[in-house]
Amino acid sequence: MLELTILGNGPVCPNPGGASSGYLVKGGDTSVVLDIGPGVVATPEFRKSLPELSGIVISHLHIDHWLGLVPLSYLLKLSPVTHANTPFKVWTPPDTRTQLLKFLDELSMGYPLDAYDVEEYTAGTVLCLPGLQIKFQQVQHFIPTFAMRIENDAGSLCYSADSSLCEPLISIANESSLFLCEAGDGITSPKNSAQRGHMTGREAGAAAANANVGNLLVTHIWESHDPDQILTEVAKEFSGACELAIPGKTYKVVREQPTALSHDAPKG
Ligand SMILES: [Zn+2]
Ligand SMILES: [Zn+2]
Repeated sequence: MLELTILGNGPVCPNPGGASSGYLVKGGDTSVVLDIGPGVVATPEFRKSLPELSGIVISHLHIDHWLGLVPLSYLLKLSPVTHANTPFKVWTPPDTRTQLLKFLDELSMGYPLDAYDVEEYTAGTVLCLPGLQIKFQQVQHFIPTFAMRIENDAGSLCYSADSSLCEPLISIANESSLFLCEAGDGITSPKNSAQRGHMTGREAGAAAANANVGNLLVTHIWESHDPDQILTEVAKEFSGACELAIPGKTYKVVREQPTALSHDAPKG
């Protein structure tokens, strides 16, 4: 079994009523959350999963991918929520552990939280957890950022993190059953941008097509971007099943490539 639940699909500022990046992945005996942006801790699906959560995997240190660690540290310390694995495991990109701990310390204003056991992962190595494994690949973004590929016997899920359309992304997404891909640039790429760090819907579709993935979920979307227009752009490049990643929905990751995405109805 491999399942993905969308906790947040927003960009750097959460969309109204929503959360920035946060994705719950369950496989075998393991549940992990990929990124924890603002608003993720407040989602019912995150709170429900918390007692069984093995840890949180951070793609990069832009705040929409880790700032939820701050309120979570207070929750772990001060609320009756119990967690068997405290200090809570956090996996962070190479050479970011010291910086992340410094951010957390400064934001707690000296209050001793000590909530996390922070470990760096490395590109090229595989994080093996009971029931699933995670590989990492650095992709093109404004700061060091790592896409992830989560696999077990049921299938494979690739999460783009924040990325422009680039060869390393296509490489790690190759033939994945489900590709969770950002389209933070929406409909048209920004003008006067020396370096790209996000994709349009059309580029997300091109990444999916070039990687020959099964199905595509588009995420990291601004509310000002029309979802239907983004999906129209995706369809110019990718002919497989595609939809917007909707908070609260759970998607089954299966090796066969169904013509429609398999998911439960959103809750609440
Ligand atoms: Zn970013
Ligand atoms: Zn982001």
